[in-house]
Parts: sequence; structure tokens; C-alpha cells
Amino acid sequence: MDWAEIFASRTKRMAASEIRELLKLLDQPDIISFAGGIPDPALFPTKAFQDAFSDALSGDTQDAALQYSVSEGYGPLRDWIVGEMAKLGIPCSRDNILITSGSQQGLDYLGKMMLSPGDTALIGWPTYLGALGAFNAYEPRYDRLNSGSNRSAKDYADAARETGGRVKFAYMSVDFANPTGETLDAAARDHVLDLAEELDIAVIEDAAYQSLRYDGEAIAPVLAREIVRKGDIEACRTIYCGSFSKTLAPGLRVGWVCAAQPVIAQLVLLKQAADLHSATINQMAIATVATTIFDSHVAKIRAAYSARRDCMLEALAAHMPEGVEWTRPEGGMFVWVTLPEHLNSSDLLEQSLKTERVAFVPGHAFFADGSGTNTLRLSFSRADETTIREGVRRLAALISAAV
Ligand code: PMP
Repeated sequence: MDWAEIFASRTKRMAASEIRELLKLLDQPDIISFAGGIPDPALFPTKAFQDAFSDALSGDTQDAALQYSVSEGYGPLRDWIVGEMAKLGIPCSRDNILITSGSQQGLDYLGKMMLSPGDTALIGWPTYLGALGAFNAYEPRYDRLNSGSNRSAKDYADAARETGGRVKFAYMSVDFANPTGETLDAAARDHVLDLAEELDIAVIEDAAYQSLRYDGEAIAPVLAREIVRKGDIEACRTIYCGSFSKTLAPGLRVGWVCAAQPVIAQLVLLKQAADLHSATINQMAIATVATTIFDSHVAKIRAAYSARRDCMLEALAAHMPEGVEWTRPEGGMFVWVTLPEHLNSSDLLEQSLKTERVAFVPGHAFFADGSGTNTLRLSFSRADETTIREGVRRLAALISAAV
């Protein structure tokens, strides 16, 4: 049977993620991996979760924990999130929060909610690979969201009409972005809001790494800035996607969307149709752990990751040859490296795995047009400091030989 004839056109742009393939390498013990941008399991609050699951399965909640529940999500968890959003300058109510199975599900639903084939999504160049994966299924055209450019709203709108659609949203990871580690400054956030106003489009604010700031001043989220302008979340076009994956535990798959109620109401319908609700007991456990230890736990992981970031930046400065550049993130998990133009990071990865046993992600995977072949992403979240130093030293030796 020719399955390609049977599969819908939306599957045509789905390719095996280079990162998923690479994650398989993490199992090989002699590989130093700077590839997967995943939390260090040694930092999981395991005991707190053991207690939380045990509590959920006893007493008043034991039946509810294993039962179907509402699509909007577990009330006490939504209430806790409302409190956190208020601290970020985003006053809202429980009705502005939908619990999703990871923020990845939020991105999928938002693509499903807004993109018809041929519509345009404005994205970073590079951008989060998983966002491309989520949106690709809805067959959009991508255009480059570049806060430094002087392209007008009309330029974007005219280009979008060429594929028979219109611009629907701008997507961006504002703090310590995956893959670059860069943070959008206040002016750039306001610029995107202005552009969104002119184009009359939504803004998707991906805040997956927001709590992981190691130094520098926090910058108010795009949604908070828009609330200052408009006075009320109900008047806002920004849709904030949060996640517990980087702070508590990714395996429980709990994230959230915070937005005006018409957006949440539509997303609830999409969630009902897709998976009814996120796992009840996982939401309960996250609610308990978040309520009891969130701030102290986040302080602990920030200290650990920030030391690893410093270590990676020092090693890069000590070993990388002339002509290689890299970002200096104020948080998150990633450093983005730009090699001289003539070097290809996919070739380099092949070589590196063979001779140096060091893994990273070639940068072109994060560009909608496959450009950026001389870039690569290094994650400092998993390895200890000795390993980071050794891995960067080996990688730099390989690059030095190639430049
Ligand atoms: N957004 C960004 C920028 C990410 O890096 C990730 C995870 N790698 C996600 C969203 C999805 O995370 P989750 O679904 O685990 O919340």
C-alpha cells in the first residue's frame, strides 16, 4: 500500500526532528552531549513529587485523582498560576488559564486555532524547532520577524497575500530563547506589539524559560506590557504560553496558556476534541509541589544552571579560535555559536561524534528555510562543570582544525 497517497497534505512537512534523533545518543555513556535542551534529572524535586502523588491518591482526592476531569484544568493549579501571573504584572482570573499537556500542546492548538493553509506566521530566524513542528501541520507560510528591520506592516501583509492567506500571528520566545539564548529587550517587545496592532494579529509569547534568569534585570512579559497599554487582559491580543517542564518536571507534561477568555474558550473546544484534558493526577501533583516549594526549588536550579552557563562561557573564551562567535545568555539553557561562513555544522557534528564524542544540534534545524548552516546550539543544562570544560575543549580543537 502506498501510504503517502493516504496521508493528508498536512503530513508532508512533518520530518523526523533532528533533536529527537539526537536524543537517542544521550544513552551512549561516552558521549558528551550538549544536544538536548533538557533539565538535569539530578535536580528534579523527586521527594516532593513522591509525597504529592501519594497524597493525591489518598484521602479526599483519591477518586478524583484517577477520574476524568474538566478540560480547562485542575482549579487549584489554575489558581496558583493566576497568582504567579499577577507577580509578572499580568492580573487575570482562573477563566484566563487553560492547562495544557506541556506548552508544546499549547503551540499545536494555537496553530490549529489560527492557521489555515497559506496563512502566514511571523517567526524568529532562527526559532524554536518544536514551534516549527507544531505549526507545519497547519501548512502555513513563514515570514521573518526581525525587530531590527524596517519592514512595515504593509510589507508583511502584502507578502502574506501572495500565498492566498493573511498574517495570523507573531510567535516568539522572549526570554533566553531556544535556540539562541537571547532575550528580547523592552523596545523589541514593544515593537512587536506595535506591529501586531497594525497588522491586527495575535502575538504568541512562549515563556518556557522565563523563570530561569541568572543575572540582569527581568523584563516585563509582552502580555504584561500590553495590559499596561490596554488596562485589561480581555482587550489583549497576546497569548502567553507557560510551562512547568524547565522548573519542576517535563515528564508530567503540564503547561498552560494565559489569554483573553474568547481565546481560552476556543482552546477548550480544541482540547475537548483532542484529549479531553491533561492527566488529572499530574496536575494535582504539580499544584501541590508548586504551592509548597516552587520558589525555593527554582532558586536551587538557577544556581546550578548559572554555574554551568558560566563554565561554558569561560571554556568557549579559553578555547574557541578567532572567527567563532557565541551568545552570552542571561538565563535558560542555551548558547548559540556562529562559525565562519564556510563551515557546515552538520558535517562538523558527524566528525565530532566520530572523533570527539561530543554532540550538539546543528543550527539549520531552527531556520524555517534551512539556512544558518554555519551555526550550532550548545546546551549547558545537563553536563557537570568538568564535563562541560572537556566537551568544549574537544569541540574547539575540532573547529580550530577546520577554520
Ligand atoms: N517552547 C520552547 C521554547 C521550548 O524550548 C520547549 C521545550 N523544549 C517548549 C516550548 C515545550 O516545552 P513543554 O511542552 O515541555 O512545556
